[in-house]
Amino acid sequence: METIFSKIIAKEIPADIVYEDDQILAFLDIKPVNPGHTLVIPKEPVIDGVEASEETMAAVMRVAQKVARAQKKTLGCTGVNYIMNNGEDAGQEVFHAHMHVIPRYKDDNTFSSPNHNDYKEGEVTEIADKLRDTI
Ligand code: AMP
Repeated sequence: METIFSKIIAKEIPADIVYEDDQILAFLDIKPVNPGHTLVIPKEPVIDGVEASEETMAAVMRVAQKVARAQKKTLGCTGVNYIMNNGEDAGQEVFHAHMHVIPRYKDDNTFSSPNHNDYKEGEVTEIADKLRDTI
C-alpha cells in the first residue's frame, strides 16, 4: 500500500520530521490547522487506527503525548487536540493511519462544533448493551 506517508517514511519525499524511532515517525502537517500541527504515524503500513494493532496504537499515543507536551512547552498553546480520522466517511484522506496532534488556543475558532443529537426512547440502553457485549 503506497501512500504519500509511506514515501515520507522511505525518505523519498521530504517532511519536517520532529520525532523518529523504529516504530513511529512524527512530522509537521503541510496544511496546519495551527502552526506546529503534527502527524504521528506508525512506520508499518496500516490503513487506519481501527485496523492497527493495540501495540501500534499504544506506540502512536506514546509519541502523540510527547509531541503535545513539546507543543505546550515551546509554542505556548493552551490546549491540544488528538484527532484520528478513520475511514473516508470519518474524513480520512490519506490511507495510512495517522494521529493529528493540534495545538489549540483560546477562541482560535479553528473547528466548528460537532452536531450533538438526542437519543430516542430506549435507544441509549440498546446501543450500550450491543457495544458492551461486543467489546
Ligand atoms: P486526514 O484527513 O486525517 O487523512 O489528514 C491527512 C493530512 O495529511 C492532512 O491534514 C494533510 O494536510 C496532510 N498531508 C498530506 N500530504 C502531506 C505531506 N506531504 N506532508 C505533510 N502532511 C501532509
